[in-house]
Amino acid sequence: MIHILPELGYPMDALYPNISNETLEYHHGKHHKAYVDNLNKLIAWTEFENSTLEEIVKKAPKWPLFNNAAQVWNHNFYFESFSESPRTIPEGKLLDMIDEKWGSFEMFKQEFNKMAMANFWSGWTWLTRDWTDWPLNIWNTQNASTPLTSREEEWILIPLLTCDIWEHAYYIDYRNRRADYLEKFWNVVDWNIVERRI
Ligand code: FE
Repeated sequence: MIHILPELGYPMDALYPNISNETLEYHHGKHHKAYVDNLNKLIAWTEFENSTLEEIVKKAPKWPLFNNAAQVWNHNFYFESFSESPRTIPEGKLLDMIDEKWGSFEMFKQEFNKMAMANFWSGWTWLTRDWTDWPLNIWNTQNASTPLTSREEEWILIPLLTCDIWEHAYYIDYRNRRADYLEKFWNVVDWNIVERRI
């Protein structure tokens, strides 16, 4: 099975000025593409040759296959969360759960950003929900790690949203100002898409 770099569901300039076309050209066109190319090279002639991306993420040895496969999955998930004309506020059941847990959507965003600022590593910040129940949570993962692998264990997390906080995600637009990137991130997240993941 050949894994393919998914096309962005929006034009390169659609997220500007929150995320510039230059950032998308590098982040999607170079970084994300490199993970896909590496993944395809690494699975050739192995037991993972015909596996789906999710199967590889869950079963692959840590390095280098897991890292490349998980980075493909994480980036697919990240870039899929944006749209050209996003609904920037959650609604319905998800909004109720956010209100219940954090008090308001504004307070949720503050908590998420605080967690993302505290992630010392190159990594990701996630909103997840528990499979069996509804508790929402915010997590940091390091490097390529993803909540997807939690499905192997008893405690199953469903990822709803992620923010890439590797420097390559924001350095062209914001240099070292991660907080500014995080603030603008919310202008392009489409909650129609997040709600579908529930
Ligand atoms: Fe990235």
